[in-house]
Amino acid sequence: MRAFGACIIKLFLGQVLAVRQVKLGFNGPEVSEVCFGSLAISPLQGRVNFEEGAEILRYAIEQGITWVDTAEIYDNYEQLASVLKSYPDVRVVTKSYAVTSEEMALSIEKARKGFNRDVIDFFLLHEQESALTLKGHKGAWEELLSAKERGIVRWIGISTHAAAGVRAGALQQGLDLIHPIVNMQGLGIIDGTIEDMLKSISFASELGIGIYAMKVFGGGHLSSKAEVAIDFIKGIKDIHAMALGMSTREEVDFNLAILSGKEVSDELKNLIKAREKKLYIADWCEGCGRCLDYCPQRALYLEETVKVDHNSCVLCGYCGRACPHFCLKIV
Ligand code: SF4
Ligand code: SF4
Repeated sequence: MRAFGACIIKLFLGQVLAVRQVKLGFNGPEVSEVCFGSLAISPLQGRVNFEEGAEILRYAIEQGITWVDTAEIYDNYEQLASVLKSYPDVRVVTKSYAVTSEEMALSIEKARKGFNRDVIDFFLLHEQESALTLKGHKGAWEELLSAKERGIVRWIGISTHAAAGVRAGALQQGLDLIHPIVNMQGLGIIDGTIEDMLKSISFASELGIGIYAMKVFGGGHLSSKAEVAIDFIKGIKDIHAMALGMSTREEVDFNLAILSGKEVSDELKNLIKAREKKLYIADWCEGCGRCLDYCPQRALYLEETVKVDHNSCVLCGYCGRACPHFCLKIV
């Protein structure tokens, strides 16, 4: 990961803060090296309520984070907008599963309305696995190209859990940004190893595409090795930035301390450890199986009731929205 010029101390929102700024690919803007991953404060994960989540985002911005990652399915535009109305310079990334042009047009309008902004900074196709998946989303991509042309979206791209997705995205006409799953153990990569993913990332980066990493802590599995996990990503020159999910002030302090190379106190480490997450399955699960297809990691299986393979689960919370009985939660 490369710092942009010598701009290590950044004057932002009237405060002098030690936040490293990076350039997102050839065409992308300058942003803080960490993006606020808002899944962690969304109803999908259900760890904090609306006001608590908004307060954490506000705190993160005050510490110097200049962009926020969300998605249509996180169902948190209103929560984020309640904070971002005071920070018009903070950039937003959102994503949609839209397949057709019409669906994507609706998604873009939903975001513009939800954030009360004429222009959405970054819009991504959510979870693209391969060239085939991208082909299937041709209509949605053409709508993104048109939105960029009309100036209502600034940069467009994809998020992906697959090395093949990164490679296909890199060749996609007009693509500026890729958000791949990448961490030091390759957790959550659905079609290969960390080496495969890094080769694809290098290919994309050399074409000038901005790369910001997802699931740096492997959905919680690497939280106990946070310093090493972050250093691993920082050591890859082709990855420009990373999204980190944060749902407490302590997590913001902890991540920013590691990123700036400061020593983290034992007290703070213990507070973080006490909040380690896992997928909770309520005992009233009826075993209908409806949630299985919602898991991108194929971590759920049925044995009368639903069970989870904790080694495969990256704690994204996507399965929670499938259950009509609210059995699945990240706690
Ligand atoms: S089991 Fe649920 S939380 Fe875990 S990876 Fe699958 S969808 Fe995400
Ligand atoms: S968790 Fe919910 S959706 Fe999944 S099998 Fe159980 S009852 Fe069905």
